[in-house]
Amino acid sequence: MPQGQEYNRRVVLASRPNGPPSQHDFRVEDTQIPVPGQGDVLVRTVYLSMDPYMRGRMNDGPSYVPPIGIGEVMGGGTVGRVTISRSSSYEVGDWVSGMGGWQDYALSNGDGLVKLGMMNHPSWALGVLGMPGLTAYVGLLDIGQPKEGETVVVAAATGAVGSVVGQIARLKGCRVVGIAGGDAKCRSAISDLGFDACIDHCSEDFTDRLGTACPTGIDVYFENVGGAVFSAVLPLLNVGARVPLCGLIAYYNDSAPRPGADRLPSLMGALLTKRIKIQGFIVNDSYALRHGAFLEDMSRWVADGSIKYREDMIEGLENAPSALIGLLEGKNFGKLVVRVGHD
Ligand code: NDP
Repeated sequence: MPQGQEYNRRVVLASRPNGPPSQHDFRVEDTQIPVPGQGDVLVRTVYLSMDPYMRGRMNDGPSYVPPIGIGEVMGGGTVGRVTISRSSSYEVGDWVSGMGGWQDYALSNGDGLVKLGMMNHPSWALGVLGMPGLTAYVGLLDIGQPKEGETVVVAAATGAVGSVVGQIARLKGCRVVGIAGGDAKCRSAISDLGFDACIDHCSEDFTDRLGTACPTGIDVYFENVGGAVFSAVLPLLNVGARVPLCGLIAYYNDSAPRPGADRLPSLMGALLTKRIKIQGFIVNDSYALRHGAFLEDMSRWVADGSIKYREDMIEGLENAPSALIGLLEGKNFGKLVVRVGHD
């Protein structure tokens, strides 16, 4: 048994939310620390990633990720250290990333577990050097295909994916306009991340200001949110624009179709007449083909300072529920990570 702690704290799904999740939908409980069998390792969680897809897993409907059962531990990407190894591939103390979930300890037979080696910032394997970074890389470069001088717009601009999208687009010589919630995030997108402009989607004149910031229209719109932001972007899309459809966070808490006029005909009409290409994608499909190139490029960009990275670190596993609730309300500023245990 690991020294010190005698039990495994974990957060389970207590009930399925109807609309935005609340604290009551989660339960923190203590269970026995699992015992590794031959070939297994026991990993102590140090960092837990908080990601928007987790909201979808709290529903009971079909999706590209299976729902979490009531009473089951919440799933999630983790970075941690091997504390017991019964595998010849891992030594005690190794830093690893995997899908350990919202708990102090996770058992693994090695499937999906990645050795991180020596990293200055192991938690970055959950962000700029991990799943969100790869999402930005393949979505922008493979689907968006930005060309020098084009205008690229990205929403959730200071978040895990959006911040990387905008910075890669700058490296490719594009004019980059971010969309973010609030003045502080918009200022940071310009002064810290090097965006050319950033517009607050909460401001009353958001649509007008977005138009002014994109005087020659939009060539690539990296879609992270949907909702009112997409409505403002659509009329600005140029002929031949590309729209990598990455996420629709504005709708994740919806429990029923929204009332209102049917806007599908105008959307389809705009796509047709402007020859706009929209392509949905899921990052999991990209690991086999693109992970190597991504890691090589991104490690270089991070090391030479071309890509900046900001984490929003929350202390304590017990605060994971409020962290996820806040993420869906735009309270995070940077990649949201929970520190579960000491390094
Ligand atoms: P972020 O770190 O960007 O955090 C989410 C942000 O979304 C919030 O901070 C907020 O930013 C913004 N937001 C929330 N609600 C709204 C709203 N109603 N309107 C406008 N903005 C809103 O999250 P990630 O970078 O991890 O994820 C960004 C998107 O990418 C999500 O939609 C996610 O589901 C998707 N994704 C998709 C993947 C794929 O494989 N297709 C993989 C990974 C992520 P602000 O306050 O600035 O508005």
